[in-house]
Amino acid sequence: MLHRLKNDFRLSIITLLGISAILGISPFAIMRFVEGNPLAGWVDLGILSGIVASLVYAWVTGDTRRSGMFLAFIICAGAVVVGAVMGEAGLFWLFPCLVTTFFLVSSWVAAVLNLGSVLALMSIETAYSSPVQMWTFAATATVVSACAYVFAYRNQDQRERLEHLATIDPLTGVKNRRSMDEELDLAAANAERTGLPYALVMLDLDHFKQINDVYGHGVGDNVLTDLVSLIEHNTRRSDQLFRYGGEEFVLLLPGVDGDGLQSVMNNLQQVLRKRLKYPGGPVTSSFGVALLRHGESVESWLTRADEALYKAKEAGRDRIIFADESGQVVAAPA
Ligand code: GH3
Ligand code: MG
Ligand code: MG
Repeated sequence: MLHRLKNDFRLSIITLLGISAILGISPFAIMRFVEGNPLAGWVDLGILSGIVASLVYAWVTGDTRRSGMFLAFIICAGAVVVGAVMGEAGLFWLFPCLVTTFFLVSSWVAAVLNLGSVLALMSIETAYSSPVQMWTFAATATVVSACAYVFAYRNQDQRERLEHLATIDPLTGVKNRRSMDEELDLAAANAERTGLPYALVMLDLDHFKQINDVYGHGVGDNVLTDLVSLIEHNTRRSDQLFRYGGEEFVLLLPGVDGDGLQSVMNNLQQVLRKRLKYPGGPVTSSFGVALLRHGESVESWLTRADEALYKAKEAGRDRIIFADESGQVVAAPA
């Protein structure tokens, strides 16, 4: 539960809002009934039920996009109804709603919802004691919305940048090892559910250190970016490439096994042999390939691919080694 709250920002906001609403609105609902204003009491209870319903929906389905949208709509519509029923005293409820919407839906949807709520409340003339008060309300609500918009926009921008930094390798632009761990877990879960075959290829450039040593790090970097570009242009859109570290990459191939996998690997090897070059000549690669076994852990799958790669290096490099179903490594022609 704590794990979900920590990893899902919108779920944590929906939960915080739900709990605050239960604690904050319930006493008012009771007070309205006690004071003899049942209409306002029922409005409060209606809002509370909507908030609790979307809280439960978010936790049960995990669909925080839809429940966030519903919640934003409920709180804005609720604030307008409270303003209409309670008059002046009810207007203040709109202010927390104007800020919260930006945490629940995208910035522009929140801005539209806020504008609609302010205009709706402005049209209820009985809610104000004077036109000056109405315009003061409109101006302060607009300023609060504008500030919340700027804050939410910057916050979202920074979150996306951080996510990019945490998941993408800066040199080659492919996903890093951290994202690889997540994608391999997803692949294993999908294979278990659907029976789709998944192949994992571990690729390591041969004698790469020499390229760096003789021609410099910049040339080495170019070889790495060329490698990524060649692999991306010669694999399917559903295939995923990750930088495992240094000059070692992992390629995840869904929906391919047997002869199909053999020919995919042979083609890739030929393309790289022919087109991956440095000033001293062609750069060759070694490959270790493992098909995910039924019920196998991601760690074991990676280890088998790594062992196959090690065998390819040991056998003289520039070759593909397949780890077969029994865990044995099977060499493909060099
Ligand atoms: P092998 O055929 O056994 O794989 O030999 P190798 O020389 O390719 O392997 P080794 O592990 O000895 O060297 C890997 C080199 O990769 C050493 C390191 O300097 C270089 N390297 C790692 N990351 C980068 C990078 O981002 N850019 C460049 N230019 N070099 C890198
Ligand atoms: Mg190497
Ligand atoms: Mg290496």
